[in-house]
Amino acid sequence: HRPRGGMRMVAPRRPDALRERPPVVRVASRCFRYALLSGLAVASLGVILAEQAREDARLDGRRQVHAQADAIASAAIEPALAGHSLDEPLGIRERGLVRDAVDSLISSGTALRVRLRSSNGAIVFSDDGTMGEIGGPVPADLREALAGATHSEVSSLNSDGIDRAQGLALGPRVAEVYRPLHPRDDPATIIGVLELYVPYAPVAAGLDASLRNLYQNLIVGSCVLWLVLAGIAWSVSRRIRRHATEQEHLALHDPLTDLPNRALFRDRAAQAIAHAARAQTDVALVVVDLDRFKQINDTLGQGGGDRFLRELSTHLQGVLRDGDTAARLGGDEFGLVLPGIDRASAPAMLERVREACASEIEIDGLPISAEASIGVAFWPLDGTEIEDLLQAAERAMQAGKQTHGGIALAEARPSDPNPGDLMLLSELRQAIERDELVLHYQPRVEATTGAVSSVEALVRWQHPQRGLLAPLAFVPSAEATELVVPLTRWVLTHAVAQLRSWSDRYPTLGLSINISARNLRDGSLPEQVGEILERSAIDPSRICLELTETALVSDPSAAEAVLTRLAETGVGISLDDFGRGYTSLSYLGRLPLDEIKIDRLFVARILEHPEDDAIVRSVVALGHQLGLRVVAEGVETSEVAQALVAMGCDVLQGFLVSRPIPADQFEAWMEHLLKPVSA
Ligand code: C2E
Ligand code: CA
Ligand code: CA
Repeated sequence: HRPRGGMRMVAPRRPDALRERPPVVRVASRCFRYALLSGLAVASLGVILAEQAREDARLDGRRQVHAQADAIASAAIEPALAGHSLDEPLGIRERGLVRDAVDSLISSGTALRVRLRSSNGAIVFSDDGTMGEIGGPVPADLREALAGATHSEVSSLNSDGIDRAQGLALGPRVAEVYRPLHPRDDPATIIGVLELYVPYAPVAAGLDASLRNLYQNLIVGSCVLWLVLAGIAWSVSRRIRRHATEQEHLALHDPLTDLPNRALFRDRAAQAIAHAARAQTDVALVVVDLDRFKQINDTLGQGGGDRFLRELSTHLQGVLRDGDTAARLGGDEFGLVLPGIDRASAPAMLERVREACASEIEIDGLPISAEASIGVAFWPLDGTEIEDLLQAAERAMQAGKQTHGGIALAEARPSDPNPGDLMLLSELRQAIERDELVLHYQPRVEATTGAVSSVEALVRWQHPQRGLLAPLAFVPSAEATELVVPLTRWVLTHAVAQLRSWSDRYPTLGLSINISARNLRDGSLPEQVGEILERSAIDPSRICLELTETALVSDPSAAEAVLTRLAETGVGISLDDFGRGYTSLSYLGRLPLDEIKIDRLFVARILEHPEDDAIVRSVVALGHQLGLRVVAEGVETSEVAQALVAMGCDVLQGFLVSRPIPADQFEAWMEHLLKPVSA
């Protein structure tokens, strides 16, 4: 039952929250990006602070220089001038005092050059003897000092026009200061300007040292700041991530049981299906519904009911394998995704699930247990889309609940007929009309005596081009459409006619005829059967209609009604392929059955598989308890036949006795059989 070519694969569509977490690389690169950005921010802050500090240092240097100039002016120059304006020529005494003061400044290295200027800027005194008027306008620095403000700037010795005019080489770095001179006790009056060049190196050295210190602190501080920021960011992002993980968990899990919810269930199913498609395996989707949960809830109260569900979900998880998923789909409904489980392996697994649900749970000292109805659908057998599969499982579960409870497989739904099938079906319609069908008969024998008791009519199609077609080639397609109604009518009519023509030779021979689920839904079957029997004047008790278990499950109530009416016509009813479905014993008891046929899959394996041996044994026992005839079909070897006889089987059918054969061959076969052994 692999999907046919061209069938659409279910692409697992996953909700956003389900996407895989970012790989380590992405987390690392995100951290790196964050570190880079915050590092950049901290570094620019550092640069701004450093710039500010340099500006402060510059101002500080200026203050120092001004203070020095103030000290020189007020302690040495102004006392020597004694209030004498430099616009007047200096007296001998003043000039002498000024010279002494300046000499001592120069010789001590306190100043490198000292000049005095008058109010029009002319040099009236210079330590190096330079004198003279200014040609052109008064320079700005000098003008500032003449206006009463000290001006200073950092330059080199001999860098101004006068010195360069004398061809002097550029000297060391100096602070060049212009400071107004005042008479003592009269700071408002300006008597001239002191032009002073003091060495700048010592000031610069002091400033550099403190700046270096500051830079160091700044770098350390920035690093600490960056680390603290990074730490905060890391812990905040970790909290956010944890919160997101929690939210994601909440979004995908049922808060009561912490099992996956419907959304995650779908996702897991999609994953399992995608995987099964690659690995060529099956997936079972299971719906588990508790039968008496409302009662439990009413008895225990909501809180007790909740505790019960929690306990139950633990039990449920306990029976699952790695890779299986149990989810809570709603109230008292659970869903299972069972990868790798197909129709054959499902029963054992589902029995465990059912037992887990039925196990006793103690709530407030009360032992409580629930029974579960279980519906199963298989990918790809019952559908390819998750939604269809879920619905199929749900339908099976509901159908099972109505009839018997326990485990119900989805009714194997014939897929929509493909173009080839459609061709075949239109041909089949004509084939029925043109009597291209033939019946083969497979004898069945009494287990104890070996006497032929009846035959099963099995249809074939003598196709004009394709030769003799087995029923599997066309019956399932016909069963998917209304065409099975005329097909069954044809088989009924011709098989009964054959039985009629055999009546003289084999007056007690029984006849089994297969009917489909759709024939039951048709509703007119009992009348048809009655009519055919009446026309042929056959004792209805010689006819047995075989119906598969799955046909019953698909629409149990309608099936029951039609079966009852069929039974009223006097024909026997046989439950075919018994063991493939999960009909419960109590349901069997309600049906008007005469016979059950143990599915040939079990029969074939009784010698090798102890489980199958046990199943067949219990079916025989069960059948007899219900007063039914038990038929084993598919008997191929005498060892199996012996085992079945030992178990108490009533009727044997299978290749060991005979293959299905045409009517004339059956007659010959009977001839041969009836011949005395000695002949
Ligand atoms: P079924 O009703 O279970 O019929 C028994 C099938 O098992 C037959 O296959 C038969 O040939 C095969 N069989 C019998 N003994 C042995 C054995 O010892 N070993 C093995 N391996 N197989 C054995 P067949 O004739 O191919 O029919 C297949 C199915 O087609 C039937 O299964 C039945 O479900 C369906 N079918 C056949 N005729 C009709 C019909 O007239 N109407 C309907 N609705 N279905 C039919
Ligand atoms: Ca049959
Ligand atoms: Ca069968």
